Amino acid sequence: MFKEILNNFFYNNNDYILKKFNKIVSYINSIESDFEKLNNKQLREKTVYFKKLLHNGENLDHILPEAYATVREASKRVFGMRHFDVQILGGIVLHKNCIAEMQTGEGKTLTSTLPAYLNALSNKGVHIVTMNDYLAKRDAKKNKPLFEFLGLKVGLNLSNMSIEEKRKAYSADITYATNNEYGFDYLKDNMVFSKKDKVQRSLNYAIIDEVDSILIDEARTPLIISGSLNNNNFFYKKINKFIIPKLILQGYENEKVINFFGDFIINKKYKQLYLTELGFKKIERLLIKYNFISNKYLLYSNSNIFLFSCILSLLRAHYLYFKNVDYIVKKKKIIIVDEHTGRIAIGRRWSDGLHQSIEAKENVDIKNENKLLASITFQNYFLLYKKLCGMTGTAETEFYEFLFVYNLNTVIIPTNLPMIRKDMPDLVYLTKKEKFNAIIFAILSCVKIKQPVLVGTISIEQSEIISKKLKILGIKHNVLNAKFHDKEADIISQAGKIGAVTIATNIAGRGIDIILGGCKKKKKNKNNCSCFIKKWDKKNKFVLNVGGLHVIGTERHESRRIDNQLRGRSGRQGDVGSSQFYLSLEDSLMKIFISNKMKFFFRNLGINFGEFITHPWINKIIEKAQNKIEQKNFDLRKQLLDYDNIYNKQRIVIYKYRNFLLKSKNINDIINKILHDVINSIINKFFNKYIYKKKKNILNFKKYLKKNFNIVFLNIQTYNFKIFKKKLFKNIFINANLNLFYKEKIIGLKNIKRIKKFFIIKILDDFWTDHLINMENLRQNINLRSYAQKDPKQEYIKESFYMFTSMLKTFKYELISFLIKTDVSFLKSDNFFYNR
Ligand code: ADP
Repeated sequence: MFKEILNNFFYNNNDYILKKFNKIVSYINSIESDFEKLNNKQLREKTVYFKKLLHNGENLDHILPEAYATVREASKRVFGMRHFDVQILGGIVLHKNCIAEMQTGEGKTLTSTLPAYLNALSNKGVHIVTMNDYLAKRDAKKNKPLFEFLGLKVGLNLSNMSIEEKRKAYSADITYATNNEYGFDYLKDNMVFSKKDKVQRSLNYAIIDEVDSILIDEARTPLIISGSLNNNNFFYKKINKFIIPKLILQGYENEKVINFFGDFIINKKYKQLYLTELGFKKIERLLIKYNFISNKYLLYSNSNIFLFSCILSLLRAHYLYFKNVDYIVKKKKIIIVDEHTGRIAIGRRWSDGLHQSIEAKENVDIKNENKLLASITFQNYFLLYKKLCGMTGTAETEFYEFLFVYNLNTVIIPTNLPMIRKDMPDLVYLTKKEKFNAIIFAILSCVKIKQPVLVGTISIEQSEIISKKLKILGIKHNVLNAKFHDKEADIISQAGKIGAVTIATNIAGRGIDIILGGCKKKKKNKNNCSCFIKKWDKKNKFVLNVGGLHVIGTERHESRRIDNQLRGRSGRQGDVGSSQFYLSLEDSLMKIFISNKMKFFFRNLGINFGEFITHPWINKIIEKAQNKIEQKNFDLRKQLLDYDNIYNKQRIVIYKYRNFLLKSKNINDIINKILHDVINSIINKFFNKYIYKKKKNILNFKKYLKKNFNIVFLNIQTYNFKIFKKKLFKNIFINANLNLFYKEKIIGLKNIKRIKKFFIIKILDDFWTDHLINMENLRQNINLRSYAQKDPKQEYIKESFYMFTSMLKTFKYELISFLIKTDVSFLKSDNFFYNR
């Protein structure tokens, strides 16, 4: 009900916003002729003029129409492309903190030039965010001539660049990079020991291309910087060899039991795995038998509890993660296949021991588990920007999440030309075999009339099945799955050629345009140019005549959005085109969500081998099933965000303090203040009004001071507690300062300042990274609290707050103790300072 109201509101709101912004578009059109009259120099001078206006207090909204008219005019001169009205509309939406849903081929790259130019005028930087390095490079190169024509600088920030190159890229007016790169740079900037080693400026305005992919699909995997940790690889191997083969599957949740005496149950829908009572007992016995522990009680000690997680992650590796679907094995390495995009994610590792477990399962070298040094979710990174916006062809189904998590409204921009693609209702077959036969038949029909066809699969395995069948039939085709990562852009751009057959996992090659007749490659020889264009026109017409690009989906994805992306590959800019999904009752989505009763009904319809069923009602059921999974995935992301938000607040406090330390010119004052706090808190810990005179207390206190701070103090004779405290404080404070002063004399004022600054930051970092690990452990185990009738999230908030404050307190102790006790003479050299 709530969603329905929200939906209604969404569509009404969309109309309202379009109406309002269309007025601005009309105004921009009305001043176009004024801008046409300007010469190039005058047009460029507009940039200086706008900057001056802004400097004098004018706001961006007011200069938007003129600025957009300037960019349009410049684009006409530089690219020979005039921004369509719908692109101007999209540009306004992007400037106004919203997500612009624009179909594939509507020209989002050109649209982004408008808000990028406008927002860059305030000199605070604009970040354009792309899904991969290839797209960052391509778009920066494409738009650079336009921005430079208007007097703005463009920067490109790639993962393999040096610090200097990165800093240069960030200092440009408009910077292009991937979401990963921006996020990692942010984290690394908060790990440096000197202000000058930072690369980013403030986070002002970001335009995220393919925003759903970045803020939704990738939002479940946080960015992590880690260092290697020595650890328990041996256990993964040994458990995999001796224990896992002995554990028996009891069955799948809500399905018939396979073995009553089984040890674990699998929930396919949610990719979960639970141990049964028998399973627990068996594991205890096996761990003792194979000498992991000597008695069962030891299993629950802190140092052994990880054996359980090790067993659970190994079981998950064996029963829930599949080779060539979830990962591939290449050169004896496990490489993740991104479940949404089908791309291989080189360098990424699953956490919580899952990656090690899969390495053990596949019998390849097990890499050390890593120590977490810093991490952030994309949600929280992008929320750091003062202003955010995004564009994509598929945002509508996720408008709720964009609104509630990121405070971004979604606005659907009409297409430039009417969309005439034919989306046919799904065809459902009884078995996978019949489905694949039908798909091959459909491909053959396209090949016969030389219509280009794009087959979208949900896994590498499916791509390979189809490819094999086509090979047997001798049909030339390209396979675009995660294994051909480098070439994918090139292949997909040619998928609209006459008679081309392309098989692609999911949305591989997203962001690349499929042009009917093939990509117009530039000819070096200019004389050939017109002849080439004529040839291309002919090819383009041919493809249009045979029906444009035909898209075949081999299975419904969990998310409607991903299916829409596949469809959106066809029918760009008013082209003809068509799309068709082929399903079977054996597909995983159907298996999970279609009830047995319904399956029985289908089977008894009396359809023969090879025949299909199609009905809008079936599409409704599928949509409902997808909706359910989308909701589940949303909940998972929300949960991650809820937990990350708590940690995010702490991260902001630490990073703020760290920055303050980095910038501070007077580190001695800061340390003095900390010294104050530490001494006061020690005194309060040892003495109160009633016991301050007790000999035993004073003795303990002396011992403590000597051991932790290397300080000896004289006895204090007084009968007044306040005076006692004051004198004691003074005594310790002077002692401590003398110690530090002595060190200053040895190595010089400049050096001691640098050393103090270095260590205060280093010790803070060490405490913070240990805290991260503790928080992560807490998060993983907090659900156990629900057995004690406690709300896990509330418990997490309480506990993490306590952990955080005590971490800060111990940090102060540790710092002072370290500074006083350490012999600094060996630190005279510069070598120990950290370099990024
Ligand atoms: P999208 O990212 O929305 O799928 P692109 O930005 O890749 O689309 O643009 C698709 C194609 O349309 C590109 O070849 C681009 O040069 C062309 N294009 C975009 N805008 C215009 C325009 N206003 N006039 C002519 N061609 C345009």
